[in-house]
Amino acid sequence: MPLDTGTGRPAPAAHYGLAAHEVVLLLETDPRRGLSREEAALRQETYGPNALPAAARGGWLRLVLRQFQHPLVHILIAAGAITAALGEYVDSAVIFGVVLVNALVGYLQEAKAEAALDSLRAMVHTTARVVRGGREETVPSEELVPGDLVRVEAGDKVPADLRLLRSTGLHVDESALTGESVPVAKDDAVLAPGTPVADRLNMVHSGTLVTAGDGSGIVVATGPETELGEIHRLVGAAATLATPLTLKLAAFSRVLTVVIIGLAALTFAVGVARDQGVVDTFTAAVALAVGAIPEGLPAAVTITLAIGVGRMAKRRALIRRLPAVETLGSTTDICSDKTGTLTENQMTVRKIWTPDALYEVTGSGYAPDGAVRGGPAASVALHWTLLAGACCNDAALRHEGDRWSVLGDPTEGALLVAARKAGLPDSVRDDHPRLAAIPFSSDRRYMATLHHDPVTGGQLVLAKGAVEELSALCTGRLGADGTVRPLDRDALLAAAEALAAAGLRVLATAVRLPDPAGAVAPDAPATGPDPRSAVPFDDDRLTGRLVLTGLQAMLDPPRAAAAAAVRACHSAGITVRMITGDHAATARSIAGGLDLLPTGAAEDGRVLTGRDLAALPADAYPDAVDRARVYARVSPEQKLRLVEALQDRGRVVAMTGDGVNDAPALRQADIGVAMGLGGTEVAKDAADMVLTDDDFATIESAVEEGRGVFDNLTKFVVWTLPTNMGEGLVILVAILLGATLPILPTQILWINMTTAVALGLMLAFEPKEPGIMTRAPRDPARPLLTGTLIVRVLLVSALLVAGSWWVFSWEQGMGSGLAESRTAAVNLFVAVELVYLFSCRSLTRPVWRIGWFSNPWVVGGVLAQVAGQLALTYLPVMNRLFHTAPLGADSWLRIAGVAVLTSAAVAAHKYLQRQPM
Ligand code: ATP
Repeated sequence: MPLDTGTGRPAPAAHYGLAAHEVVLLLETDPRRGLSREEAALRQETYGPNALPAAARGGWLRLVLRQFQHPLVHILIAAGAITAALGEYVDSAVIFGVVLVNALVGYLQEAKAEAALDSLRAMVHTTARVVRGGREETVPSEELVPGDLVRVEAGDKVPADLRLLRSTGLHVDESALTGESVPVAKDDAVLAPGTPVADRLNMVHSGTLVTAGDGSGIVVATGPETELGEIHRLVGAAATLATPLTLKLAAFSRVLTVVIIGLAALTFAVGVARDQGVVDTFTAAVALAVGAIPEGLPAAVTITLAIGVGRMAKRRALIRRLPAVETLGSTTDICSDKTGTLTENQMTVRKIWTPDALYEVTGSGYAPDGAVRGGPAASVALHWTLLAGACCNDAALRHEGDRWSVLGDPTEGALLVAARKAGLPDSVRDDHPRLAAIPFSSDRRYMATLHHDPVTGGQLVLAKGAVEELSALCTGRLGADGTVRPLDRDALLAAAEALAAAGLRVLATAVRLPDPAGAVAPDAPATGPDPRSAVPFDDDRLTGRLVLTGLQAMLDPPRAAAAAAVRACHSAGITVRMITGDHAATARSIAGGLDLLPTGAAEDGRVLTGRDLAALPADAYPDAVDRARVYARVSPEQKLRLVEALQDRGRVVAMTGDGVNDAPALRQADIGVAMGLGGTEVAKDAADMVLTDDDFATIESAVEEGRGVFDNLTKFVVWTLPTNMGEGLVILVAILLGATLPILPTQILWINMTTAVALGLMLAFEPKEPGIMTRAPRDPARPLLTGTLIVRVLLVSALLVAGSWWVFSWEQGMGSGLAESRTAAVNLFVAVELVYLFSCRSLTRPVWRIGWFSNPWVVGGVLAQVAGQLALTYLPVMNRLFHTAPLGADSWLRIAGVAVLTSAAVAAHKYLQRQPM
């Protein structure tokens, strides 16, 4: 292979301009067997993993520089420079020291938050289907190398840049690369040199999404060498930490900063005009600015959100977009799929219905131990029902040790097991080679396959699917004796309804037996390298030509935790809705078992089918949709309308989805939820959250965590604001009275820096409040701080101002030195914040109900803060740096008194305002 001597990678060849066989030659591979495993391993050493570098280069520098962008830092730098110019070198050094420490702490916090989000993204693994040594296997996408032969189909994310060798109806959404949102139809024709990326129809690019069809191609570039890698290099894929709330808070901080700087400037002007001395007034103005600007707020919010994201990941909900963490707390409606989310997706066929008999199937799970009983075993209808179930099927049974499992769709797995139980040979699929297929889709709701019939040598059609759809294609039905009679559609639908009412998932099967001419489609040349694409076989050929053979009804038990999770949602004021492609009666039965439907008269209008929805007049649509709880036989397009209708009524909707067609609804929903195990890459890409266990209960946990995160954010804001207000007011009062400053700028810096890290941050680790899931969802329009909380912030601010003036004046009155008096005021601030921290651990419950040690982080932080205060007060070096002095026991008593008073005042306020936050 020609290598670029500089990079050791293939010279950038315009693969789209070469014929397929030239690409094969260039990359030294085999268009049928792919690379050998040994060759793939060797190439992996040369090319490295097929992954993009985790963080954009220069990422840390960007983060460090960002720490110096806050207006407060600019004020501090200016203040440090002026203080140095005034000859106050110690103060100047302290200010610069604080700037550096502040930048370091900010950098570490943000880097940690970004790393947490990056690693989450990496947890959503993608796999690729590759042919190596002639065998198709599934490998992690990182293991692909140039030359690999890769297959892609609808729902996949393209794992590397591929030059297509073959494609059938392949459409790719390339918006990640080109911004073009309409899927592009691909083919394998050679293109002219210089064709731009967006027009390279014979290439599919890493990171784009296959929306329809399938194809295979040769990997021509991996990792950073792909087109996506190029973009990644240009723009840098840093995680975005912004959410509506952080943006709002940042905007609030900016406005406040401007106001405070204006106020500080005014103070300076007033002081100078009053002849209070330039140096003193300057110090006071700086103190005011430093104290009052809530500079740590946006960073603390981001960190709380990031910690929430980590907690959700532990509970198997991966957040892909940070704003989802906030929105989860406001969710009012969860629209969930049935199969696999509310149920186990562990299918077992229990009953088989043919027009002449109803059979029981014994045994459970995927082990083919059991039998088909209760009717004539020699029935031709039964035989073809089982055969169609087994051959019109892409799943495989696996037997490892004594464990049986299904590779592929569990519904299809159950059909294979039933066929085995009835005694159909393992070789049944090989005996009926498949020539073409119409795949199952949630829109079509059936699947059909064309086979070679070993008995007649002709062609045979087998089909299975939802009873309504499949029966529409049939005119006759097969009898036990093999004769074809007219289909009694009403009897068939009634039989399906009866099975579905017992909660069983019903699949109909149909056949078209070889006609005397021996072929279903005489014009179909069943030859060529890939029979799937060579034989034209489409829906039009089936209509009216099929014969119904029977129904297979399978049990899919509800998930163990689902019922409790649904009940938890109800008590949390969240409406749970089931949206399913399945039969209305099956859905109703399962929903009933999960307490999702009210009983009795209230049940009217709670179950709607796709057909009901389509027939609803526009003005009745929103009400009917809102009233319903179960939506059955719903198509993906209808899902989108459902979400929109609920959102129009002011609901905050979480919606699950797994298929390609679910992507628009997932994007529209406030929280799009994709399935990590059973979902397509397209759905995951559109989602805000991915469930790693596909379980409904996980959504409920995520909502609970979301509420917890919002609580903790509120707690932090309520805790931090009084400090800023208190400090600002203390200084303002001093200036207005023309009195000595009770606290110096460097001391304010000490208070803000140490308490934010040692105390405030610990609130992000606060466990969830009991009863968090018995409150109503938070109204997203409601401000973070309610009237009650604003009153509390003002109350504590007032206590801080009064308390610090009181201890300062007392010390002065007792003849203590200025340093000692200021030390008392500083310690008072910290002591009140420390005690108030415990109050803020719950916004409604009194301190003594929370449990003093239930958040070990708070305990650790408090001990660290106490150690810091003792050092500040008694260590000579700290006394010199921060102009402090040792205090006597009586001073501490007064400080403790004010702190206890604050705690009591907040407790009294909580008592008087006993209402939800
Ligand atoms: P949910 O949307 O809750 O996951 P679902 O899995 O039942 O529900 P679909 O997968 O869209 O929804 O299935 C709809 C119907 O299509 C089923 O009721 C069944 O009759 C039929 N069906 C499901 N899987 C297959 C399949 N592999 N082949 C043929 N028909 C199928």
